[in-house]
Amino acid sequence: MDLKTGLLGRASGEGREVDLIIAGGGPAAISAALYAARYGMDHIVLESYQPGGQAALTAWIENYPGMKRVAGGDLATGMKEQAESWGAVFESATVTSAVPSASGDRIEVRADSAVYLARYLIIATGAAPARLGVPGEDKFYGRGVSYCATCDAPFFKGGHVMVVGGGDSAVKEAIHLSEFASRLTLVHRRDRFRAEPYLTEKLLSCGHCIVLWNTVLKAIEGEENVESVVVETPEGRNRIDLDGVFIYVGRKPATEPFRELVELNDNGTVKTNNIVYTSRNNVFAAGDVTDNELRQIVTAVSDGARAASAAFDMLQ
Ligand code: NAP
Repeated sequence: MDLKTGLLGRASGEGREVDLIIAGGGPAAISAALYAARYGMDHIVLESYQPGGQAALTAWIENYPGMKRVAGGDLATGMKEQAESWGAVFESATVTSAVPSASGDRIEVRADSAVYLARYLIIATGAAPARLGVPGEDKFYGRGVSYCATCDAPFFKGGHVMVVGGGDSAVKEAIHLSEFASRLTLVHRRDRFRAEPYLTEKLLSCGHCIVLWNTVLKAIEGEENVESVVVETPEGRNRIDLDGVFIYVGRKPATEPFRELVELNDNGTVKTNNIVYTSRNNVFAAGDVTDNELRQIVTAVSDGARAASAAFDMLQ
């Protein structure tokens, strides 16, 4: 309880004031920033440690309209440069909490280095890779275990790598890894992929790639670096010697700082209504952080534009 205001968990009302804060740095946030800047809104984008979000860590993007094939990093950089050319303001800061201000008509956003007061907030913090939770996963992170093929694939040139998962990310990044590794084994817990058919066909046509269906990774082992894994196959347990393990088993939405501000679903995504509206009327959400079903770069940028436009309409 704050003894001065008498409000439980309410903010003090101090901090730098702006009309709009956009939390996040991926395509949804950048698109919101582009629209906010073009609307002439007083805004700040608080982008965390990964400018460009997950998109910037994606090797190749082939389904973004207007670009036949573009590196994720190049697309993210191009988006940010475009937004900045219109006056978008980006600050490097990690949002740690967001609560209603003491007056109730602002959002107090606390970041690692500063406090802000905003009339409107767009939550576009995206999602981080989910962990599998098997023995060895944490111990060998950065020493053979990776969640980013774009970052780490070159370290495994000529080696044997394993990819875990059956969604778009696993299959897409396995295709990218197969350009470096001389042997690739993908393990999936079911007997069919969730990934788009054009991706799975490409992977299944790779001569040095195999898929172990109905197989679960049980442990990652080694001395200094990853040397082998233990998998549970329908035929029993096996040890496989290899050099690296890339884990793509879904994403965990980055919504912890907003837990007290808006309603979340059981899986941690922000509950939305009409795509970008949340349970609080001055807070919007965009991109992978939401419960909207299709999670693509094209839908993230669309959400960002809608959210900025909705905030702009409310300001009028
Ligand atoms: P996802 O679609 O949720 O797929 C996660 C995969 O991991 C699933 O195959 C799932 O198995 C498996 N999995 C989950 N938990 C597991 C566990 N504990 N042990 C073993 N396997 C486990 O996640 P994603 O691939 O990261 O994609 C997230 C979103 O981004 C999706 O909407 C996707 O379409 C989109 N995306 C699109 C592209 C594109 O190029 N179009 C690229 C990347 C991502 P089950 O199948 O058995 O559930």
